[in-house]
Amino acid sequence: MATPNYSTLVASVRKTFNSGKTKSVEWRRKQIQNVIQLIEDKKDEICQVVKKDMRKSEFEAILNEVTLTKNEGYYALNNLDSWVKPEKVKKDLLNMSNDCFIKREPYGVVLIVSPWNYPVQLALAPLIGALAAGNCVIIKPSEMTEATAEFLERTIPQYLDQDCIKVVTGGVPEISSLLKERFDYIFYTGNTMVGKIMMKAAAENLTPVTLELGGKSPVYIDSNCDFDVAAKRILWGKFVNAGQSCIAPDYILCTEEVQARFLDSMKRAIQQFFEEKNPKQSDYYCRIVNIRHFHRLKKMLNGAQIALGGATDEQDLFIEPTVLVDVKPGDAVMQEEIFGPILPIITVNGVEEALEMINEGEKPLALYVFSHDKKLAKRILDCTSSGSACINDVMVQFGLNTLPFGGVGHSGMGGYHGKHSFETFSHRRSCLMKALNMESVNGLRYPPYTERKKNF
Ligand code: NAD
Repeated sequence: MATPNYSTLVASVRKTFNSGKTKSVEWRRKQIQNVIQLIEDKKDEICQVVKKDMRKSEFEAILNEVTLTKNEGYYALNNLDSWVKPEKVKKDLLNMSNDCFIKREPYGVVLIVSPWNYPVQLALAPLIGALAAGNCVIIKPSEMTEATAEFLERTIPQYLDQDCIKVVTGGVPEISSLLKERFDYIFYTGNTMVGKIMMKAAAENLTPVTLELGGKSPVYIDSNCDFDVAAKRILWGKFVNAGQSCIAPDYILCTEEVQARFLDSMKRAIQQFFEEKNPKQSDYYCRIVNIRHFHRLKKMLNGAQIALGGATDEQDLFIEPTVLVDVKPGDAVMQEEIFGPILPIITVNGVEEALEMINEGEKPLALYVFSHDKKLAKRILDCTSSGSACINDVMVQFGLNTLPFGGVGHSGMGGYHGKHSFETFSHRRSCLMKALNMESVNGLRYPPYTERKKNF
């Protein structure tokens, strides 16, 4: 099959952008309203496609694909007028009578490349930010969640301005061809290896990027902790979407004594979550996205010491919620982001060893601490770096849209959500407006540079 060529598509979108159509606040508002309308009208279909793609439960689909995305839209609508206002800046003596401000302006044609794990939210939430800032957008959803990609390709043109917002579906040949085009901004969510491909392609045109990547997000559990509460919160974060969340707790660090006590709490929590049934029979429990990822995860169980779970079913792409104990840093499960329902526990002597281990790895996307001791939590924050951090819970920092969401180092660059999305997709243009008077003062800088001027 011939490699697709997107020159005409990108050129037509750029022509529309250059017409100025997307700059009006009314246009932006209308498009965001239409994204919300799409989600509301097609709520049931969204649940169906994500179920088809990865057996996501209806509850999780409503919460993570529908509600979170709609909230992002409402927040943008409610704040758009204040966001677009020019920002006045402090002035020095020379500029007292001038108008000095920062004007947020759209970059132009934005490429949004989204992944499969939250395939609706991670395509539409950045779209809302890009529209709020007045950009034209080309979205490339993940080919791995085919039903959702087809859904987005079909419904987005029904609701949004077709001249300005396009969906391109397909896999590596399509995205590789798209990346040959010049974009004004690239917003990529996915794995770190492809993040580098995005950045290289962007560098060709000096295109700015946001890279929302992944990594191994650690959890430190202190002995001064409520283990039952910690177990529920951590396991929820690890097993929602079957662990296929970028900020899922990846592994636990704690002392041997804590490991033993925490294990009991986890047993109770799992029984409660699945009402003592086998998670395989539960409607709540998602499946692994495809056979490649299933085998990748299954390999991590080879030779591991399984304390809870461990059952797998290839036909059903099922991996039971699984906890591994006495894991060593060299074990297979510690060599890459797990991105599945496997939770390893590594025992350490105490917080110092935990800090050493965390700081030896790449900077994670998220970091979690469970402790009653606030001083200890603050100390861990001071001694480490991560995209985000949360004390005594996991993942919920993602839902607060006044916090920028993003990574650092190998877990990404840039951030979004709420106003941070608007900022991400806007260029901050410095503007200084003067009048043509006051020439006697301005004249001081013109040649000839006389002695009198030098001494001024
Ligand atoms: P994926 O395989 O769906 O890839 C993401 C996108 O990259 C897709 O649209 C895909 O077509 C494109 N792509 C794949 N290979 C490519 C190539 N060779 N060249 C150019 N584009 C290519 O998703 P994934 O990468 O498996 O997603 C999981 C990863 O994403 C995990 O590491 C996870 O932590 C991370 N993630 C991060 C966030 C975040 O907000 N930081 C959110 C979700 C997922």
